[in-house]
Amino acid sequence: MKTSGKNILGYNFSSIGETVFFAKNPGTGNQLETPYHEATLKEINQAITLAENAFTQYREKTGEEKALFLETIAEELLQIEEELVGLCGQETGLPAGRLKGELGRTTGQLKLFATVLRDGSWVDARVDTADLNRKPFPKSDIRQMQIALGPVGVFGASNFPLAFSVAGGDTASALAAGCTIVVKAHPAHPGTSELVGKAIVSAAKRCDMPDGVFSLVQGASIAVGQAIVRNPLIKAIGFTGSFRGGKALFDEAARREEPIPVYAEMGSVNPVFVLPGILKENHQTLAEGLSNSVQLGAGQFCTNPGITVLPKTKESKVFEDVLKNSVQVSESATMLTEAIQKGYNLGLEKLKVKKEVESISTGKKTEGHSQGVAEVLSVCASDFLSDKELEEEVFGPSTLLVRTEDKNEIMDIAKNLNGHLTATVHGTEEDLYEYADLLKVLERKVGRLLINGFPTGVEVCHSMVHGGPFPATTDARMTSVGTAAITRFTRPMCYQNYPDSLLPDELKTENPLSILRMENGKYVLPN
Ligand code: NAP
Repeated sequence: MKTSGKNILGYNFSSIGETVFFAKNPGTGNQLETPYHEATLKEINQAITLAENAFTQYREKTGEEKALFLETIAEELLQIEEELVGLCGQETGLPAGRLKGELGRTTGQLKLFATVLRDGSWVDARVDTADLNRKPFPKSDIRQMQIALGPVGVFGASNFPLAFSVAGGDTASALAAGCTIVVKAHPAHPGTSELVGKAIVSAAKRCDMPDGVFSLVQGASIAVGQAIVRNPLIKAIGFTGSFRGGKALFDEAARREEPIPVYAEMGSVNPVFVLPGILKENHQTLAEGLSNSVQLGAGQFCTNPGITVLPKTKESKVFEDVLKNSVQVSESATMLTEAIQKGYNLGLEKLKVKKEVESISTGKKTEGHSQGVAEVLSVCASDFLSDKELEEEVFGPSTLLVRTEDKNEIMDIAKNLNGHLTATVHGTEEDLYEYADLLKVLERKVGRLLINGFPTGVEVCHSMVHGGPFPATTDARMTSVGTAAITRFTRPMCYQNYPDSLLPDELKTENPLSILRMENGKYVLPN
């Protein structure tokens, strides 16, 4: 399927703008042939107006209807797997195996949200029945549930062209919540975005969804994203990308007359703490595991372990040697874009000009464009503690070893951390007992704590939290992965003294949808 280079405005295609841009194959540096038309302000506003009009109908669709829509999107995506993986590979340099896996994750995510909609209990229904005899005042009948916010702006991420992009987690959760969406495609993979966008439109038509439930606008300048955020009809934003981009959009939204939530998932360094006992027992396997995790996907994961805190012991020397050797023989990999590769090298340079930072191992640079070469750097804890720049994300396959003298230094590092998505602690049972206070400190710093694992690899499930305190995200209360992500796009709505027949089914006295509800303060299981 050839791509058109057009924007998708509801059920129509549009290319009235004169500014065009092209995707580039990061592996060869060659420009791909299709010109993509950057959306004009008129087109962006048209997409958002369609989304607003469609919202009135879409929010009334039943859970079953929305579930079918999500499943049909998954079905449509699987039907174009071959061309999707082919074009996406050209635009991102990612290997077919990885992209097939990511497509599976994308479709699995859509289907998982469908199960949540069918179950129906996600709306957190609460029922307080009236008590007309209550003294001194009678009590009204009051009921509450979550309802959709309205049209949502979604920004596709560069590093997951399928799972965090046009039909990714933000889209799946917003559509599941009952919101209509306008997606800003990431300019690094516009063709992939168009193919996915067409699959969503096709699913929308098959499921009789309103025109405007989904739109896709293209653009290689920040003006397109800014216009989405500024439009007063947009009621929330979902974003994954850089700190600079996420914070800029958050600030843009704060300048609106009507403030809206901006759920930006931004940079994270994901500190890994290796404790003395486990280092003694497992230094070899730990070092190998860390090397693999750092290099996975050329390090282009927001959960990449960018800092490793290591106690100075006899075994830490062996750990470092194993890590060094493993990285030294590793081959470079194509990064997603030239800009990301340049950003990675720049980030490393910024670290390496500091006299207290030492590069202890560099991988092999192989032929090809946009190569990301793995690197391990080191610094002592006292220097790390006195320089906040050392905690900044270097997006790529590197980690900074922070050598500590004692437990006090380990605790000081933890206490001084910014917010991150994850923290990992490797320890024996005795270690974990002795460092229970470290875990408590880390609980305040991250959204996900792992014991004896590696943070790369984020399971899409009901309990996942892919979030964390600022600057990892702009809202620590939320997750962008897993079914709990749905609540980002809803608000609580209260119905007082409503006749039963006018209430949403979720709140009707007979509980016709058989969902779990809180009734007069007690959770009641459906019969
Ligand atoms: P990005 O620069 O943050 O861009 C993401 C999206 O946001 C793009 O569509 C971009 O549009 C838009 N955008 C960025 N700044 C904007 C602004 N001020 N106003 C309006 N829209 C704006 O991320 P990226 O291109 O994916 O990668 C760049 C860097 O981000 C990487 O080198 C890496 O450091 C970081 N990154 C982090 C993560 C993570 O998960 N933590 C993931 C991916 C990337 P335009 O491109 O059209 O400007």
